[in-house]
Amino acid sequence: QEEYIRKPDWLKIKLNTNDSYTGLKKMMREKNLHTVCEEARCPNIHECWAERKTATFMILGDVCTRACRFCAVNTGLPNELDRQEPERVAESVKLMGLKHTVITAVARDDLKDGGAEIFAETVRAIRRSNPFTTVEVLPSDMGGKEENLRTLMDAKPDILNHNIETVRRLTPRVRARATYERSLEFLRRAKEMQPKIPTKSSLMIGLGETKEEILEVMDDLRAVDVDIMTIGQYLQPTKSHLPIKKYWRPEEFREFRDIALSKGFKHCESGPLVRSSYHADEQVDAAK
Ligand code: SF4
Ligand code: SF4
Repeated sequence: QEEYIRKPDWLKIKLNTNDSYTGLKKMMREKNLHTVCEEARCPNIHECWAERKTATFMILGDVCTRACRFCAVNTGLPNELDRQEPERVAESVKLMGLKHTVITAVARDDLKDGGAEIFAETVRAIRRSNPFTTVEVLPSDMGGKEENLRTLMDAKPDILNHNIETVRRLTPRVRARATYERSLEFLRRAKEMQPKIPTKSSLMIGLGETKEEILEVMDDLRAVDVDIMTIGQYLQPTKSHLPIKKYWRPEEFREFRDIALSKGFKHCESGPLVRSSYHADEQVDAAK
């Protein structure tokens, strides 16, 4: 039986649900688009959408072929591929006036290319109609196939983000199908293919890892030349997801950020509410 751990005060934030983005939510439904901001009930949505002009789209449907034990996305057999999706994402980026956009996708292990072609087309479509918007991609390992990664890198995103998610020891319990080594290899290859495109990876903590294991992740990411790292607190989406083992304290997050910078990351966001795409708009220049 898991012990119940009380939520600390620094995570008790009031969700800002004013009108400023209800119109945007309506537009998302009309265009049949999905955002991580909404689906993950991200506490930063007001700051990101209204102030920072950043949003994270989830393409290739909202049903994932994998079932990672921390993730709230539904698992199952995905829908038909929607070839118009890249254009609709690009239109929404324009309507929202986004300065920075993150494109992520469910893992499409049912597709030979892992969805790489539509992913790349989404980057190109955004570029065509939003030449000043920076585009960050956040793919799964796309089956670990080199050609899929190449398809995506050829579209020249501004940042290639691929999440390591958790420490080496916990990976088999936390992630479905993905492996720690394969994610490192994915990041290494991305850098090799396009050395000028910054790479980024995120770690969620609070799943039972030790400080030493967190530092080991930093070293492993630096060994494959990752430029940007984010560290945030894991929050259990529902009772059937992995339990929270620990709430790391804000000052510990600050210490991790300092350690990360001393290890050579060009940018590190680390804090209880930090998400993979949080303050992503600041990182494009910082990493160059
Ligand atoms: Fe969306 Fe990411 Fe901002 Fe959360 S942190 S609102 S998921 S862009
Ligand atoms: Fe969630 Fe991604 Fe895992 Fe799918 S692959 S279950 S979307 S974390």
